[in-house]
Order: sequence, then structure tokens, then C-alpha cells
Amino acid sequence: MTDVDPDEYEDVWVFIEVHGDEVASVSWELLSEGRRLADEKGEDLVALVIGRDVKTVAEEAIAHGADRALVADDPVFEPYRADPYGDQFRHLVEEYKPDIALIGGTHTGRDFAGRVAVPTHAGLTADCTELDVDDDGLLLARRPTFGGDAMATIKCETHRPQMATVRPGVFDVDEHDPEREGEIKNTEVVVEESDTLSRVLERSVGDVADITDADIVVAGGAGVEGDFSPIEDLADALDAEVAASRAAVDEGWIEAPRQVGQTGKTVRPALYIAAGISGAVQHLEGMNDSETVVAINSDPNAPIFEHADYGIVGDLFEVCPALAEMIREETRREVPV
Ligand code: FAD
Repeated sequence: MTDVDPDEYEDVWVFIEVHGDEVASVSWELLSEGRRLADEKGEDLVALVIGRDVKTVAEEAIAHGADRALVADDPVFEPYRADPYGDQFRHLVEEYKPDIALIGGTHTGRDFAGRVAVPTHAGLTADCTELDVDDDGLLLARRPTFGGDAMATIKCETHRPQMATVRPGVFDVDEHDPEREGEIKNTEVVVEESDTLSRVLERSVGDVADITDADIVVAGGAGVEGDFSPIEDLADALDAEVAASRAAVDEGWIEAPRQVGQTGKTVRPALYIAAGISGAVQHLEGMNDSETVVAINSDPNAPIFEHADYGIVGDLFEVCPALAEMIREETRREVPV
């Protein structure tokens, strides 16, 4: 590996992840955090938009704080495949030489980030939960390590760009300003369909629930003892997403993408209901930025109550159905017949 001249590299890039008409919310989160880092470094914030028919996405990226948007717009980029995305991103890195490149730690981001980092000899830190810059302007990428027992701060002194994939849900999205102005530049698309090895023949949709985007989350833990129906019932009454502690996921009672916590996802909904969850520190780490927390636990001394705005001491198999019924009753009353 060869060292590079860091002075040749500037600007903070954020990859804007687009699937069809949808932009992954982590892209807006990263633009907000990227804005802070770029201001601290005195550099520009650049949105990198790869996809098909993505002009309006580039405009939205400017509204969300980018100074410029670099756009690679071509049918080859829809639906997502790792090879065209990785090749195009790498080409743009080599041409424009960004100092920092931030990518959402989604399935997509994790899939292609390595395809950029390896050939460009970039330093890539995966699954970061905190970002900062030091006095020399180096990126400080923080992430859980040793299975979540410690936090590591990783910096890359000699290679560029300094790349990080960042866990969705850990940063707030700042207010966007539709009047904000910035340059939108179309870049050369270097990928052709005929060069692309992979073809999408069929898409099968598994558990696509994104608990990180939900306004209301109802989570169950070991206390459900294998029966998630009271949690699902309450979630249904509230139009909420179902989530879980690691104990419930480890038991195989619910799918891993619904795990909240240090080794799961970070959620910050308006309302988080934790039922049959004790409140271990690793679980709290994934939900303690929720606006309102309601804990349901049969043990009045469960630690979760210290972190809850409202606590209900009781059996979740009685409390959840009763709450669900009250909510449905209330909703019925609100809707005039
Ligand atoms: P328990 O701690 O067993 O608590 C069950 C609770 O249910 C108890 O408080 C009990 O009083 C209550 N209860 C039982 N029956 C009922 C009932 N009928 N009605 C009401 N309440 C009832 N955990 C995570 O959640 N997310 C993570 O990402 C995560 N990452 C980890 C990373 C590492 C490195 C380590 C070491 C651990 C991690 N853990 C994580 C595990 C964590 O330490 C706890 O073991 C886990 O959160 C416990 O899950 P729980 O609260 O569901 O189970």
C-alpha cells in the first residue's frame, strides 16, 4: 500500500442512498452530521447522489445542508447492485479526492463500501456510532468493539479518503431549507450495463421493517417467554413497529433486524414501550434517546423503570391487551360514525 498526500484531499462527502423514489433516512442524518464536521474543518459538504432520475434528490440534498451535489444518473444504477455502485463511487473518489466519505451502515452501504475502500487504499471504519474531528482535522470514527464491551476511536493518518459507514438512527436530522442554494454537477458515468457482472432476476422481500424510522415502537423481551402476541397486539392498536431485546432475538422468538441496542439498532421514536425488558445497559443504548418511554414489568425494581417516563408494574400478558383495548376504544370514540 502506498501513502497518499493528505493535502491533495478535501471536502466531506455523504453518500445519498436512493432506492426508486425513496431516500434512506440515514442519508439526511449524515448530511446533518457531515455539515458539522465540514464546518469544523472549514471544508465543503458534498452530497454524492448515485441512481436513476435523481435530480430532485440532489436538490433535496442541497436543502439538507450540502454545498454541492455530485450526481451520477443512469439506468444502470437501478435497482441497486454492488458492482456499478462500487465502480462509480471509486471513479469519483479518484477524480475528486474527498478527505472524508460517510456512507449509511445499511445493507447497501455495507455491501459496496469495501469495493471503494480496498482499491483506493482508503481507511474504512464500519458501523460507527459517533463521529468527530481532532485538532488536525482527522476524522475520529467511534464504534463499539470487543462484542460491544468497549468503544474504539479509530483514525486514519496516512490514507485517504477517511471512510466510515455509520449506523442509521444515531444522528438527528436538522431542519432543511428548500431555499438553500448549491451547485449540482452531473458527473461522467463510467459504468456500462455490459461491464456489470450481476443481474437482478428476482427480488424476494424478507422482513423489511425499519424500526429506526418508526414513530412508535413496542418492544418485547425475555418476559414474553416466547409469545410475542401481546406485543404485536399492542403495536397493532398503536400502528407501531414491533421490536425486541437481544434476549428475545437470541431465543429465536423474533427476527434479528428488530433487535434494539448496542449490537442491534438505534431507535429514537416519539414513544417507546418496553414490555418484559429489564433495562440492561446494552439495551438502553439503543433506545435512550426516545422522546417518551413507557416500561411494563412485573418486577417493581427492574432497572428499566429508572429510564422510563411512565412505568406500569404488572404482568405484560394482562397489561398489553388491556392497553390495546383502551387505545382501540379511544380511537373508535374519536372517529365520528
Ligand atoms: P431479562 O434481563 O431476562 O429481563 C426480562 C424482564 O422481563 C425482567 O425484568 C422481568 O422482571 C420481566 N418479566 C418477566 N416476566 C414478565 C411478565 N409476565 N410481565 C412483565 N414483565 C416480565 N441486549 C439488547 O437488548 N440489545 C443489544 O443490542 C445487546 N447487546 C449486547 C452486547 C453485549 C456485548 C452484551 C454482553 C450484551 C448485550 N445485550 C444486548 C444483552 C443485555 O445485556 C441483556 O442480557 C438483555 O438486554 C436482556 O434482555 P431482556 O431485558 O429481554 O431480558
